[in-house]
Amino acid sequence: MAGRVAVIRGDGIGPEVVDAALKVLEAMDVDLEFIHCAAGYALWKERGLQITSETLETLKSSDVILKGPTITPVGPASYRSVAVTIRQALNLYANVRPVKFREGVPAIHRQVDLVIVRENTEGLYAGEEAYMGNSAISTRIITRKASERIAKFAFELAKKQRRRKVTAVHKANILKATDGLFLEACREVAKNYPEIAFEDLLVDAAAMRLVMRPQELDVIVTTNMFGDILSDEAAGLVGGVGVAPSANIGERNAMFEPVHGAAPDIAGLGIANPTAMLLSASMMLDYLNMREKAKKLEKAVENVLRDRKKTTPDIGGKAKTMEMVEAIIDELEAL
Ligand code: NAD
Repeated sequence: MAGRVAVIRGDGIGPEVVDAALKVLEAMDVDLEFIHCAAGYALWKERGLQITSETLETLKSSDVILKGPTITPVGPASYRSVAVTIRQALNLYANVRPVKFREGVPAIHRQVDLVIVRENTEGLYAGEEAYMGNSAISTRIITRKASERIAKFAFELAKKQRRRKVTAVHKANILKATDGLFLEACREVAKNYPEIAFEDLLVDAAAMRLVMRPQELDVIVTTNMFGDILSDEAAGLVGGVGVAPSANIGERNAMFEPVHGAAPDIAGLGIANPTAMLLSASMMLDYLNMREKAKKLEKAVENVLRDRKKTTPDIGGKAKTMEMVEAIIDELEAL
């Protein structure tokens, strides 16, 4: 076997899109072993916890993780998000979210081809919150080590993908200590990459630039929450979260999941767009050095999107998830 893949099917539309991805990977005859692990809302309802220590051990010992979205109920009585728990437990410090216009998908902008590199382990997602009487406090932790590490990751990604510019997004005019430190770390790291242009933008300006002139953005590096918000905004420019893949990369482990959530509003209807999950699976194959297979899968998805005959309702089509999947498998066989 070329690799062991730990699979979390997730909640809501999670099982629908994960099963779609497994069907496609099976049709591609990939040399991978799939190990199913339970995590999320269903497990919490059954056993009172959202992820077990055995699952975390399986995730750590696997080569990669393929994860469907999981539900995190809102409010203090709820549990910590499964995705955030895994990112922190396995130190998956870089969240990579490519955002690209693909022909056939109704988009607000066509000139979009950028990557958001989001710091994944600290910031406002460190989970340091407390009530103090009638107030509530959240601690925003930013370290030089994590900031330098994510900046280096962003520049290396730019180099590998032959991209021209890295933009650090921050709010250092207001968050002078935390984002001041983040920006300083990015500036320091940028000095080691003279061949790649570097600029910085305040997060509010970056949000507007994304909507008005996304073609000016190439690689964005930013802190945890800004990256979370901007990547959904960016996905909205090119068809929405149903077509937005992501990777969570650490030193030893990596997890691939769609940007979208469990979509309870359409769960069970069989109309979830499998594109984000399949493009995440393509990123996983690339990570496992199965580059040709990764490219082939991306191409097959792109061909079906361009054709528009078998696409799901979120991007203007009428097809069910599995009809789109069958079309992608036919395309793979024809390529
Ligand atoms: P969501 O992404 O689930 O849904 C937002 C909108 O996008 C909905 O209208 C939904 O129908 C649509 N959508 C999402 N994925 C789609 C797909 N593949 N095909 C077609 N339409 C799709 O966001 P939400 O409603 O804010 O969150 C729902 C739940 O998901 C929450 O419990 C949240 O915590 C969880 N969530 C999990 C993750 C994760 O596991 N990484 C990420 C985000 C949200």
